[in-house]
Amino acid sequence: MDCLIIGYNDGDFNEYRLMSHRAGADSPEWQIFRKEHLALDGVAMPWLEAFSRVRNRVTGRNDRYHPAEVFNLASLYLASYLRRRGISAEAVTLFSGQRDEVAAMLAQRPRVVAITTTFYVNVLPVLPLVQFVRERAPEAHIVVGGPLIENLCQDGVVGGAVDESLEDLLTVMGADSYVRESQGEWTLGQLCQAVAAGADLSEVPNLLIEDDAGWHPTRRKPEANDLDECAIDWSGFSPRDIGPTAQMRTARSCAFKCSFCDYPQRAGALTTASVETVRRELRQLAEMGVRNLVFVDDTFNVPPKRFKELCRMMIEEDLGLSWYSYFRCSNARDEETFDLALDSGCSGVFLGIESADADVLANMRKLAQDDQYRAGLEPTPFS
Ligand code: SF4
Repeated sequence: MDCLIIGYNDGDFNEYRLMSHRAGADSPEWQIFRKEHLALDGVAMPWLEAFSRVRNRVTGRNDRYHPAEVFNLASLYLASYLRRRGISAEAVTLFSGQRDEVAAMLAQRPRVVAITTTFYVNVLPVLPLVQFVRERAPEAHIVVGGPLIENLCQDGVVGGAVDESLEDLLTVMGADSYVRESQGEWTLGQLCQAVAAGADLSEVPNLLIEDDAGWHPTRRKPEANDLDECAIDWSGFSPRDIGPTAQMRTARSCAFKCSFCDYPQRAGALTTASVETVRRELRQLAEMGVRNLVFVDDTFNVPPKRFKELCRMMIEEDLGLSWYSYFRCSNARDEETFDLALDSGCSGVFLGIESADADVLANMRKLAQDDQYRAGLEPTPFS
């Protein structure tokens, strides 16, 4: 195996709570922690844990809701990307629930182990992962990438040098290299090829690597990966692993510039996959037994014309899929949009309603009016 990709790990919530507490009440760490948990019966816990407990009290069941119930999309995407380029790769969705499986895969001596950080707000979940891999596959090259690393590099790489606090964090995490690119799939491919060839890793762009003088960045080569060329080949994954609910991405970045959000700056211009690419992926997913689909695009119904084309394609295909997405009601101003969504299998959408105050919305540069939100929240036509 050239590359094993590990999608998600539950960090130790208590360690996270203590770390945030130690950082102090005015620290960003504490502010983020406050938004990331609920206290139930006086005990702090992650949101989904609290939700599971409250729901179980009502239903008398013993269910556990967890972000990794749906297979981690980043790990599937990267595995598919590498395989299409002749690099053998396997994906694991949840380290904390699949330790035996990960150990068995490490016994196959992968050359590279890639750790994604999509949902992490601090380095804690990375530490046990790196330790686990080091103990079982000491010869593997461990690389960590994804949003956490990219965020750390925003402030930590200045004028082509890694600052002291970032150096400390990189050393604490303990990986061999880090990807500092918001997309990163091309960089991972280059790294896998360089490791397999025993080549000089300082020639691989978009990395942070360490030598005798400390951590330093390799040259920058911004990625602009084509979403049609990078579409997931779902036939390479087992239906048993994917299950009845899957996530899918049809676009990268966002067309808006809200004042409180730097995502579009980091992810670049809005880039979309063609309707035909989405059609092919949907057919594969339906064939492997997927029945529920979550489109993870930041705003699935923007641009509105493309959204209608996607809905018409799904109606035409009639694959029996129920779908969910993020949705801007301020950009759905006609009945046809709602009719197409309903007829194409939409079962629910997540709305971001930041404020009902026109001045606050203007200050946020939301490009949305409060009356558009009110209209979008009307119970029709989905009721
Ligand atoms: S619409 Fe969402 S992703 Fe886009 S800029 Fe605003 S907050 Fe960020």
